[in-house]
Amino acid sequence: MPAVESQLEALWNILKQKAPILRPKIIPRGYDDEQLSSLCNSTQFQLCNLEKQALELTHGRCSICDQEMRLAARLATEWSFNFKELVMSLNKLMVLCSTCYELTDLEAFLTKTMTSHNSELESQLSTFCKLNGYNTENPVKRALYVEECYSIAYSIKTILSNCPKLKIANQEFLQLEKKNTSDILSILQLPQSAKDQASIS
Ligand SMILES: [Zn+2]
Repeated sequence: MPAVESQLEALWNILKQKAPILRPKIIPRGYDDEQLSSLCNSTQFQLCNLEKQALELTHGRCSICDQEMRLAARLATEWSFNFKELVMSLNKLMVLCSTCYELTDLEAFLTKTMTSHNSELESQLSTFCKLNGYNTENPVKRALYVEECYSIAYSIKTILSNCPKLKIANQEFLQLEKKNTSDILSILQLPQSAKDQASIS
C-alpha cells in the first residue's frame, strides 16, 4: 500500500481503538451535515419529518449513547473508509442527542475546547471519555485523551482533504432503509455541486 494510504489506515486504526463508540466525524468538504439539512429543507421533504422517522426507528433513543431523547434530536451522517482504494462512502444516517451531536462535530468541538473552559465543556469531555471506556477522574488526563482523539481525526481529515485521488461513494442508509426507503434515499442524493466540490480528481 502506498505511503499516504497506509498512513491514513494507521491513524484511523488508532482512532477507532482509542474511541470505539463516539468519534469525531471525518467528512470530506462539501458533504457536511449542514448540507444535508439545507438539502432537506429545499425539497418537498422536511428535515423534521425525516428526524421523526429516524426517531421512531431508534425508539426515541440516541444512536450513540442510547439515551432517551425528550428534547432536541439531530440527524448526522456516518462515513466509512476504504483507504486502500481511497474511497469514502456515506454509510448511514444516525439520530443523535445534542451532546453526542456536538461531540461528533470535529471542527466545532475543537474550537470549543480552545475557547471555553466551563462546566458544560467539562461535562462533555466526561461523556466522551465514559462512552469510550476511558475511565479517569483526573481532568488533565481526560483533556489530553480527548485532545489526542480530535487531533488524530483532524490529521485524517486534512490528509483526505488534500488527497487528489479521493473518491466519494454513496451507499444506502442502513438504519433507515426499512421504512420509506425510496423517500429517504431520494433525500440523501447529494446535490451535484457538493459532489464536484468533494471529488477533486
Ligand atoms: Zn447521545
